[in-house]
Amino acid sequence: FSRTASLFRSLTSTPENRNKTDHSVLRHLTSKIKSTGPISVAEYMREVLTNPVSGYYVNHDMLGPDGDFITSPEISQIFGELLGIWCVSEWMAAGRPKQFQLVEFGPGRGSLMSDILRVFSQLSAPLGGAEMSCHLVEVSPRLSKLQAQCLTGDQSQVSTNEDDPVYRRGTTTTGLPIYWYRRISDVPQGFSIFLAHEFFDALPIHIFQKTEKGWREVMVDVHPETEDKLRFVLLPSATLASSTLLQTDEKRRHVEVCPEGGVLIQQLACRIVEDGGAALIMDYGHDGVKTDTFRGFKAHKIHDVLAEPGTADLTADVDFSYLRRVAGDRVTCIGPISQRAFLKNMGIDTRLQVLLRHCQDPSNQAQLIQGYDILTNPEKMGERFQFFTLLNHRRLTTPETGEGLQKRKGPAPLPVAGFSELCLR
Ligand code: SAH
Repeated sequence: FSRTASLFRSLTSTPENRNKTDHSVLRHLTSKIKSTGPISVAEYMREVLTNPVSGYYVNHDMLGPDGDFITSPEISQIFGELLGIWCVSEWMAAGRPKQFQLVEFGPGRGSLMSDILRVFSQLSAPLGGAEMSCHLVEVSPRLSKLQAQCLTGDQSQVSTNEDDPVYRRGTTTTGLPIYWYRRISDVPQGFSIFLAHEFFDALPIHIFQKTEKGWREVMVDVHPETEDKLRFVLLPSATLASSTLLQTDEKRRHVEVCPEGGVLIQQLACRIVEDGGAALIMDYGHDGVKTDTFRGFKAHKIHDVLAEPGTADLTADVDFSYLRRVAGDRVTCIGPISQRAFLKNMGIDTRLQVLLRHCQDPSNQAQLIQGYDILTNPEKMGERFQFFTLLNHRRLTTPETGEGLQKRKGPAPLPVAGFSELCLR
Protein backbone atom coordinates (compact mmCIF):
# COMPACT_ATOMS: atom_id res chain seq x y z
CA PHE A 1 0.00 0.00 0.00
CA SER A 2 3.01 2.30 0.24
CA ARG A 3 2.53 3.61 -3.29
CA THR A 4 -0.94 4.93 -2.57
CA ALA A 5 0.40 6.58 0.57
CA SER A 6 3.12 8.37 -1.42
CA LEU A 7 0.52 9.51 -3.96
CA PHE A 8 -1.40 11.35 -1.32
CA ARG A 9 1.81 12.87 0.03
CA SER A 10 2.67 13.94 -3.49
CA LEU A 11 -0.57 15.80 -3.95
CA THR A 12 -0.01 17.91 -0.86
CA SER A 13 3.76 18.58 -0.96
CA THR A 14 5.22 21.92 -2.06
CA PRO A 15 8.93 21.20 -2.49
CA GLU A 16 11.34 24.12 -2.35
CA ASN A 17 13.01 23.42 -5.68
CA ARG A 18 9.65 23.56 -7.45
CA ASN A 19 9.91 27.35 -7.79
CA LYS A 20 13.45 27.39 -9.16
CA THR A 21 13.25 28.23 -12.85
CA ASP A 22 15.81 27.05 -15.37
CA HIS A 23 15.85 29.29 -18.43
CA SER A 24 18.25 27.18 -20.56
CA VAL A 25 15.46 25.54 -22.61
CA LEU A 26 13.86 28.94 -23.30
CA ARG A 27 17.26 30.42 -24.33
CA HIS A 28 17.92 27.48 -26.64
CA LEU A 29 14.47 27.79 -28.25
CA THR A 30 14.53 31.58 -28.70
CA SER A 31 17.97 31.52 -30.35
CA LYS A 32 16.83 28.70 -32.65
CA ILE A 33 13.64 30.58 -33.64
CA LYS A 34 15.54 33.84 -34.17
CA SER A 35 17.96 32.17 -36.57
CA THR A 36 15.58 29.91 -38.56
CA GLY A 37 12.05 31.24 -37.93
CA PRO A 38 9.01 29.90 -36.05
CA ILE A 39 9.02 26.18 -35.18
CA SER A 40 6.13 23.72 -35.33
CA VAL A 41 4.39 22.73 -32.11
CA ALA A 42 5.77 19.21 -32.72
CA GLU A 43 9.35 20.51 -32.75
CA TYR A 44 8.61 22.60 -29.67
CA MET A 45 7.23 19.57 -27.82
CA ARG A 46 10.14 17.36 -28.89
CA GLU A 47 12.74 19.92 -27.73
CA VAL A 48 10.98 20.62 -24.45
CA LEU A 49 10.29 17.00 -23.52
CA THR A 50 13.10 14.87 -24.91
CA ASN A 51 16.09 17.10 -25.81
CA PRO A 52 18.98 14.85 -24.64
CA VAL A 53 20.56 17.64 -22.54
CA SER A 54 17.71 19.74 -21.20
CA GLY A 55 14.51 17.76 -21.93
CA TYR A 56 11.82 17.61 -19.27
CA TYR A 57 11.69 13.79 -19.26
CA VAL A 58 15.48 13.52 -19.32
CA ASN A 59 15.88 15.65 -16.19
CA HIS A 60 12.77 15.08 -14.11
CA ASP A 61 11.17 12.37 -12.06
CA MET A 62 7.81 13.88 -12.89
CA LEU A 63 5.86 11.14 -11.11
CA GLY A 64 7.59 11.34 -7.73
CA PRO A 65 6.38 13.06 -4.56
CA ASP A 66 7.73 16.32 -6.05
CA GLY A 67 6.18 15.50 -9.42
CA ASP A 68 3.79 17.16 -11.83
CA PHE A 69 1.15 14.50 -12.48
CA ILE A 70 -0.05 11.13 -11.28
CA THR A 71 -0.91 8.04 -13.32
CA SER A 72 -3.07 4.95 -12.74
CA PRO A 73 -0.23 2.51 -11.90
CA GLU A 74 0.91 4.99 -9.21
CA ILE A 75 -2.63 5.29 -7.85
CA SER A 76 -3.46 1.64 -7.25
CA GLN A 77 -1.65 -1.71 -7.41
CA ILE A 78 -4.89 -3.23 -8.76
CA PHE A 79 -4.33 -1.49 -12.10
CA GLY A 80 -1.05 -3.31 -12.85
CA GLU A 81 -2.36 -6.60 -11.48
CA LEU A 82 -5.31 -6.57 -13.90
CA LEU A 83 -2.98 -5.68 -16.78
CA GLY A 84 -0.76 -8.61 -15.80
CA ILE A 85 -3.78 -10.88 -16.17
CA TRP A 86 -4.59 -9.24 -19.53
CA CYS A 87 -1.05 -10.05 -20.81
CA VAL A 88 -1.28 -13.68 -19.69
CA SER A 89 -4.76 -14.04 -21.19
CA GLU A 90 -3.57 -12.74 -24.60
CA TRP A 91 -0.52 -15.02 -24.50
CA MET A 92 -2.78 -18.01 -23.76
CA ALA A 93 -5.23 -17.01 -26.51
CA ALA A 94 -2.31 -16.90 -28.97
CA GLY A 95 -1.68 -20.61 -28.29
CA ARG A 96 0.92 -20.17 -25.49
CA PRO A 97 3.95 -19.48 -27.72
CA LYS A 98 7.29 -20.56 -26.24
CA GLN A 99 8.82 -17.11 -26.50
CA PHE A 100 7.04 -14.34 -24.56
CA GLN A 101 8.47 -10.82 -24.66
CA LEU A 102 6.79 -8.17 -22.54
CA VAL A 103 7.59 -4.73 -23.99
CA GLU A 104 6.67 -1.47 -22.26
CA PHE A 105 7.04 2.04 -23.71
CA GLY A 106 7.91 4.87 -21.30
CA PRO A 107 7.67 2.89 -18.04
CA GLY A 108 7.94 5.99 -15.76
CA ARG A 109 8.95 4.75 -12.29
CA GLY A 110 8.51 1.08 -13.23
CA SER A 111 5.40 0.62 -11.06
CA LEU A 112 3.20 -0.90 -13.75
CA MET A 113 5.87 -3.42 -14.78
CA SER A 114 6.55 -4.27 -11.14
CA ASP A 115 2.86 -5.09 -10.47
CA ILE A 116 2.67 -7.14 -13.69
CA LEU A 117 5.79 -9.13 -12.80
CA ARG A 118 4.31 -9.94 -9.37
CA VAL A 119 1.25 -11.40 -11.13
CA PHE A 120 3.51 -13.37 -13.51
CA SER A 121 5.40 -14.92 -10.62
CA GLN A 122 2.10 -15.89 -8.98
CA LEU A 123 0.98 -17.50 -12.26
CA SER A 124 4.18 -19.48 -12.68
CA ALA A 125 2.21 -22.73 -13.22
CA PRO A 126 0.33 -21.68 -16.41
CA LEU A 127 3.33 -19.65 -17.60
CA GLY A 128 5.66 -22.55 -16.79
CA GLY A 129 7.13 -23.44 -20.18
CA ALA A 130 7.43 -19.90 -21.57
CA GLU A 131 10.79 -18.21 -22.13
CA MET A 132 9.91 -14.82 -20.74
CA SER A 133 11.81 -11.54 -20.99
CA CYS A 134 11.16 -7.82 -20.30
CA HIS A 135 12.01 -5.00 -22.70
CA LEU A 136 11.68 -1.32 -21.79
CA VAL A 137 11.76 1.51 -24.33
CA GLU A 138 12.79 4.61 -22.36
CA VAL A 139 14.41 7.83 -23.54
CA SER A 140 15.44 9.06 -20.09
CA PRO A 141 18.63 7.63 -18.51
CA ARG A 142 17.50 9.11 -15.20
CA LEU A 143 14.15 7.29 -15.25
CA SER A 144 15.79 4.08 -16.50
CA LYS A 145 17.87 4.12 -13.30
CA LEU A 146 14.73 4.47 -11.16
CA GLN A 147 13.06 1.67 -13.15
CA ALA A 148 16.11 -0.54 -12.64
CA GLN A 149 16.07 0.11 -8.87
CA CYS A 150 12.37 -0.75 -8.73
CA LEU A 151 12.51 -3.84 -10.95
CA THR A 152 15.94 -5.36 -10.35
CA GLY A 153 16.81 -4.05 -6.88
CA ASP A 154 20.04 -2.58 -8.36
CA GLN A 155 20.94 -5.78 -10.21
CA SER A 156 21.50 -4.00 -13.54
CA GLN A 157 24.48 -2.79 -15.57
CA VAL A 158 24.80 0.22 -17.86
CA SER A 159 26.43 -0.46 -21.22
CA THR A 160 29.88 1.12 -21.66
CA ASN A 161 29.50 1.16 -25.44
CA GLU A 162 27.49 4.21 -26.64
CA ASP A 163 26.47 2.35 -29.82
CA ASP A 164 25.02 -0.62 -27.94
CA PRO A 165 21.24 -0.63 -28.65
CA VAL A 166 20.77 -2.13 -25.17
CA TYR A 167 21.91 0.72 -22.90
CA ARG A 168 21.10 -1.08 -19.64
CA ARG A 169 20.45 -4.72 -18.81
CA GLY A 170 19.80 -6.82 -15.73
CA THR A 171 17.68 -9.48 -14.03
CA THR A 172 14.34 -8.68 -12.39
CA THR A 173 13.75 -9.52 -8.74
CA THR A 174 11.46 -12.25 -10.11
CA GLY A 175 14.32 -13.73 -12.14
CA LEU A 176 13.58 -12.55 -15.72
CA PRO A 177 16.12 -10.97 -18.07
CA ILE A 178 15.36 -7.26 -18.60
CA TYR A 179 16.72 -4.81 -21.21
CA TRP A 180 16.47 -1.05 -21.86
CA TYR A 181 16.40 0.54 -25.36
CA ARG A 182 15.96 4.04 -26.77
CA ARG A 183 13.60 3.06 -29.60
CA ILE A 184 11.35 0.21 -30.73
CA SER A 185 13.55 -0.72 -33.70
CA ASP A 186 16.20 -1.92 -31.18
CA VAL A 187 13.81 -4.39 -29.48
CA PRO A 188 14.39 -7.96 -30.81
CA GLN A 189 11.71 -9.52 -33.04
CA GLY A 190 9.53 -12.24 -31.51
CA PHE A 191 6.08 -12.82 -30.01
CA SER A 192 5.47 -9.73 -27.86
CA ILE A 193 2.82 -8.07 -25.78
CA PHE A 194 3.38 -4.30 -26.08
CA LEU A 195 2.10 -1.89 -23.43
CA ALA A 196 1.98 1.90 -23.69
CA HIS A 197 0.51 3.69 -20.70
CA GLU A 198 0.45 7.50 -20.91
CA PHE A 199 3.13 7.27 -23.61
CA PHE A 200 1.38 8.32 -26.84
CA ASP A 201 0.12 11.51 -25.17
CA ALA A 202 3.74 12.62 -24.71
CA LEU A 203 4.61 12.26 -28.42
CA PRO A 204 4.85 15.54 -30.41
CA ILE A 205 1.76 16.86 -32.18
CA HIS A 206 1.26 19.31 -35.04
CA ILE A 207 -1.64 21.77 -34.67
CA PHE A 208 -3.68 23.00 -37.64
CA GLN A 209 -6.47 25.51 -38.12
CA LYS A 210 -8.94 25.76 -40.98
CA THR A 211 -8.85 29.23 -42.59
CA GLU A 212 -10.56 30.72 -45.65
CA LYS A 213 -7.41 29.87 -47.62
CA GLY A 214 -7.31 26.25 -46.41
CA TRP A 215 -5.49 24.49 -43.59
CA ARG A 216 -2.71 26.44 -41.89
CA GLU A 217 -0.24 25.28 -39.23
CA VAL A 218 0.04 26.83 -35.76
CA MET A 219 3.71 27.54 -34.95
CA VAL A 220 5.70 28.77 -31.96
CA ASP A 221 7.44 32.15 -32.31
CA VAL A 222 9.30 34.60 -30.08
CA HIS A 223 7.06 37.36 -28.71
CA PRO A 224 7.75 40.56 -30.71
CA GLU A 225 7.76 42.82 -27.62
CA THR A 226 9.09 40.55 -24.87
CA GLU A 227 12.20 38.65 -26.01
CA ASP A 228 12.03 35.99 -23.30
CA LYS A 229 8.42 35.06 -24.05
CA LEU A 230 6.98 32.72 -26.66
CA ARG A 231 3.65 32.95 -28.46
CA PHE A 232 1.61 30.99 -31.02
CA VAL A 233 1.36 32.27 -34.61
CA LEU A 234 -0.56 30.98 -37.62
CA LEU A 235 1.62 30.61 -40.71
CA PRO A 236 0.23 32.50 -43.73
CA SER A 237 1.13 29.72 -46.17
CA ALA A 238 0.78 25.93 -46.13
CA THR A 239 3.54 23.70 -44.64
CA LEU A 240 4.48 20.17 -45.69
CA ALA A 241 2.65 18.97 -42.55
CA SER A 242 -0.53 20.98 -43.25
CA SER A 243 -0.68 19.64 -46.81
CA THR A 244 -0.04 15.99 -45.94
CA LEU A 245 -1.32 15.16 -42.45
CA LEU A 246 -5.02 16.08 -42.70
CA GLN A 247 -7.96 14.08 -44.00
CA THR A 248 -9.90 15.59 -46.91
CA ASP A 249 -13.22 14.99 -45.10
CA GLU A 250 -12.03 16.50 -41.79
CA LYS A 251 -15.00 18.18 -40.04
CA ARG A 252 -13.18 19.91 -37.19
CA ARG A 253 -11.76 23.41 -37.62
CA HIS A 254 -8.86 22.91 -35.17
CA VAL A 255 -6.98 19.62 -35.41
CA GLU A 256 -4.01 18.03 -33.61
CA VAL A 257 -2.08 15.28 -35.42
CA CYS A 258 0.69 13.11 -33.95
CA PRO A 259 2.72 11.62 -36.84
CA GLU A 260 5.27 10.01 -34.48
CA GLY A 261 2.38 8.14 -32.88
CA GLY A 262 1.33 7.06 -36.39
CA VAL A 263 4.82 5.77 -37.21
CA LEU A 264 4.97 3.82 -33.95
CA ILE A 265 1.57 2.24 -34.68
CA GLN A 266 2.82 1.16 -38.11
CA GLN A 267 5.90 -0.43 -36.54
CA LEU A 268 3.74 -2.21 -33.96
CA ALA A 269 1.32 -3.43 -36.64
CA CYS A 270 4.21 -4.86 -38.72
CA ARG A 271 5.63 -6.71 -35.73
CA ILE A 272 2.24 -8.09 -34.69
CA VAL A 273 1.65 -9.37 -38.24
CA GLU A 274 5.12 -10.94 -38.50
CA ASP A 275 5.66 -12.31 -34.99
CA GLY A 276 2.20 -12.46 -33.41
CA GLY A 277 1.23 -10.67 -30.23
CA ALA A 278 -0.79 -7.64 -29.24
CA ALA A 279 -0.42 -3.99 -28.29
CA LEU A 280 -2.45 -2.25 -25.59
CA ILE A 281 -2.50 1.55 -25.70
CA MET A 282 -3.89 3.34 -22.67
CA ASP A 283 -4.25 7.09 -22.63
CA TYR A 284 -6.33 10.20 -22.26
CA GLY A 285 -7.94 10.32 -25.65
CA HIS A 286 -10.90 10.51 -28.00
CA ASP A 287 -12.15 8.97 -31.24
CA GLY A 288 -11.44 11.85 -33.63
CA VAL A 289 -13.82 14.43 -32.17
CA LYS A 290 -11.85 16.62 -29.76
CA THR A 291 -9.91 19.80 -30.49
CA ASP A 292 -7.48 21.96 -28.48
CA THR A 293 -6.30 19.34 -26.00
CA PHE A 294 -2.63 20.45 -25.90
CA ARG A 295 -1.86 21.37 -22.28
CA GLY A 296 0.84 21.60 -19.63
CA PHE A 297 0.99 20.23 -16.08
CA LYS A 298 3.16 21.46 -13.23
CA ALA A 299 2.77 20.42 -9.61
CA HIS A 300 -0.58 18.79 -10.44
CA LYS A 301 -2.01 22.02 -11.87
CA ILE A 302 -2.67 23.16 -15.44
CA HIS A 303 0.32 25.20 -16.69
CA ASP A 304 0.62 27.52 -19.73
CA VAL A 305 2.27 25.34 -22.41
CA LEU A 306 4.59 28.14 -23.54
CA ALA A 307 5.64 29.39 -20.09
CA GLU A 308 8.97 28.23 -18.57
CA PRO A 309 9.48 25.43 -21.11
CA GLY A 310 11.24 22.36 -19.70
CA THR A 311 9.78 22.79 -16.21
CA ALA A 312 6.31 21.33 -16.91
CA ASP A 313 4.91 18.26 -18.61
CA LEU A 314 3.32 18.77 -22.05
CA THR A 315 0.62 16.46 -23.29
CA ALA A 316 -2.14 16.15 -25.89
CA ASP A 317 -5.06 13.70 -25.90
CA VAL A 318 -4.54 10.73 -28.20
CA ASP A 319 -6.69 10.67 -31.35
CA PHE A 320 -7.51 6.95 -31.57
CA SER A 321 -9.32 7.39 -34.91
CA TYR A 322 -5.97 8.50 -36.40
CA LEU A 323 -4.14 5.50 -34.89
CA ARG A 324 -6.82 3.13 -36.26
CA ARG A 325 -6.50 4.70 -39.71
CA VAL A 326 -2.72 4.35 -39.89
CA ALA A 327 -2.86 0.77 -38.56
CA GLY A 328 -4.97 -0.03 -41.65
CA ASP A 329 -6.40 -3.49 -42.15
CA ARG A 330 -3.18 -5.39 -41.41
CA VAL A 331 -4.25 -5.86 -37.79
CA THR A 332 -7.52 -5.97 -35.85
CA CYS A 333 -8.14 -2.81 -33.80
CA ILE A 334 -10.57 -2.82 -30.87
CA GLY A 335 -11.58 0.27 -28.90
CA PRO A 336 -11.20 2.83 -27.64
CA ILE A 337 -13.30 1.90 -24.62
CA SER A 338 -13.32 3.71 -21.30
CA GLN A 339 -10.97 2.76 -18.47
CA ARG A 340 -14.05 2.16 -16.31
CA ALA A 341 -15.47 -0.41 -18.77
CA PHE A 342 -12.07 -2.06 -19.31
CA LEU A 343 -11.29 -2.44 -15.60
CA LYS A 344 -14.81 -3.62 -14.77
CA ASN A 345 -14.56 -6.27 -17.51
CA MET A 346 -11.21 -7.33 -16.03
CA GLY A 347 -12.86 -7.88 -12.62
CA ILE A 348 -11.71 -4.81 -10.66
CA ASP A 349 -14.71 -5.05 -8.30
CA THR A 350 -13.88 -8.61 -7.26
CA ARG A 351 -10.16 -7.80 -6.89
CA LEU A 352 -10.99 -4.82 -4.66
CA GLN A 353 -13.18 -7.00 -2.43
CA VAL A 354 -10.40 -9.59 -2.06
CA LEU A 355 -7.83 -6.92 -1.11
CA LEU A 356 -10.22 -5.29 1.36
CA ARG A 357 -10.86 -8.65 3.01
CA HIS A 358 -7.12 -9.20 3.50
CA CYS A 359 -6.43 -5.72 4.79
CA GLN A 360 -7.13 -4.92 8.44
CA ASP A 361 -5.95 -1.31 8.63
CA PRO A 362 -8.88 1.11 8.08
CA SER A 363 -6.66 3.82 6.55
CA ASN A 364 -5.26 1.34 3.99
CA GLN A 365 -8.80 0.20 3.25
CA ALA A 366 -9.84 3.81 2.69
CA GLN A 367 -6.88 4.32 0.32
CA LEU A 368 -7.81 1.22 -1.69
CA ILE A 369 -11.37 2.49 -2.07
CA GLN A 370 -10.19 5.99 -2.97
CA GLY A 371 -7.79 4.56 -5.61
CA TYR A 372 -10.62 2.47 -7.08
CA ASP A 373 -12.81 5.57 -7.22
CA ILE A 374 -10.16 7.70 -9.01
CA LEU A 375 -9.63 4.96 -11.63
CA THR A 376 -13.28 4.14 -12.34
CA ASN A 377 -15.42 7.18 -11.45
CA PRO A 378 -16.73 8.74 -14.71
CA GLU A 379 -16.08 12.19 -13.20
CA LYS A 380 -12.41 11.30 -12.56
CA MET A 381 -10.38 8.94 -14.84
CA GLY A 382 -13.21 6.48 -15.56
CA GLU A 383 -14.46 7.92 -18.85
CA ARG A 384 -11.69 10.22 -20.11
CA PHE A 385 -9.00 7.57 -19.96
CA GLN A 386 -9.29 5.11 -22.86
CA PHE A 387 -8.05 1.64 -23.86
CA PHE A 388 -7.29 0.56 -27.43
CA THR A 389 -5.73 -2.66 -28.73
CA LEU A 390 -4.04 -3.93 -31.91
CA LEU A 391 -4.23 -7.70 -32.47
CA ASN A 392 -3.04 -10.20 -35.02
CA HIS A 393 -6.01 -11.16 -37.25
CA ARG A 394 -5.49 -14.83 -36.30
CA ARG A 395 -6.45 -13.94 -32.73
CA LEU A 396 -10.14 -13.64 -33.61
CA THR A 397 -10.54 -16.24 -36.34
CA THR A 398 -11.66 -19.79 -35.62
CA PRO A 399 -8.84 -22.17 -36.61
CA GLU A 400 -9.57 -25.21 -38.82
CA THR A 401 -8.26 -28.59 -37.76
CA GLY A 402 -7.77 -31.82 -39.74
CA GLU A 403 -7.17 -32.41 -43.49
CA GLY A 404 -9.37 -32.38 -46.64
CA LEU A 405 -12.90 -33.69 -45.97
CA GLN A 406 -11.99 -34.21 -42.31
CA LYS A 407 -11.53 -30.44 -41.88
CA ARG A 408 -13.40 -29.17 -38.88
CA LYS A 409 -13.73 -25.82 -37.19
CA GLY A 410 -11.70 -25.64 -33.99
CA PRO A 411 -13.02 -24.07 -30.78
CA ALA A 412 -14.17 -20.45 -31.10
CA PRO A 413 -11.48 -17.95 -30.08
CA LEU A 414 -11.56 -16.54 -26.56
CA PRO A 415 -13.09 -13.08 -26.30
CA VAL A 416 -10.50 -10.32 -25.81
CA ALA A 417 -10.34 -9.64 -22.07
CA GLY A 418 -11.10 -6.10 -20.98
CA PHE A 419 -12.96 -5.34 -24.20
CA SER A 420 -15.44 -7.99 -23.12
CA GLU A 421 -15.63 -9.94 -19.88
CA LEU A 422 -12.54 -11.85 -18.77
CA CYS A 423 -12.86 -15.56 -19.50
CA LEU A 424 -9.86 -17.86 -19.01
CA ARG A 425 -10.00 -21.39 -20.35
N1 SAH B 1 3.98 4.95 -18.22
C1 SAH B 1 4.32 5.69 -17.03
C2 SAH B 1 5.01 7.03 -17.32
C3 SAH B 1 4.30 7.98 -18.23
S1 SAH B 1 5.22 9.47 -18.54
C4 SAH B 1 3.07 5.88 -16.19
O1 SAH B 1 1.98 5.81 -16.71
O2 SAH B 1 3.21 6.11 -14.98
C5 SAH B 1 5.96 9.15 -20.12
C6 SAH B 1 7.12 8.17 -20.12
O3 SAH B 1 7.57 8.02 -21.47
C7 SAH B 1 8.34 8.57 -19.33
O4 SAH B 1 8.95 7.39 -18.84
C8 SAH B 1 9.22 9.22 -20.40
O5 SAH B 1 10.58 9.32 -20.04
C9 SAH B 1 8.97 8.33 -21.57
N2 SAH B 1 9.13 8.93 -22.90
C10 SAH B 1 8.59 10.09 -23.33
N3 SAH B 1 8.86 10.30 -24.64
C11 SAH B 1 9.58 9.23 -25.05
C12 SAH B 1 10.16 8.84 -26.30
N4 SAH B 1 10.05 9.60 -27.39
N5 SAH B 1 10.82 7.66 -26.37
C13 SAH B 1 10.93 6.85 -25.26
N6 SAH B 1 10.42 7.18 -24.05
C14 SAH B 1 9.76 8.35 -23.93
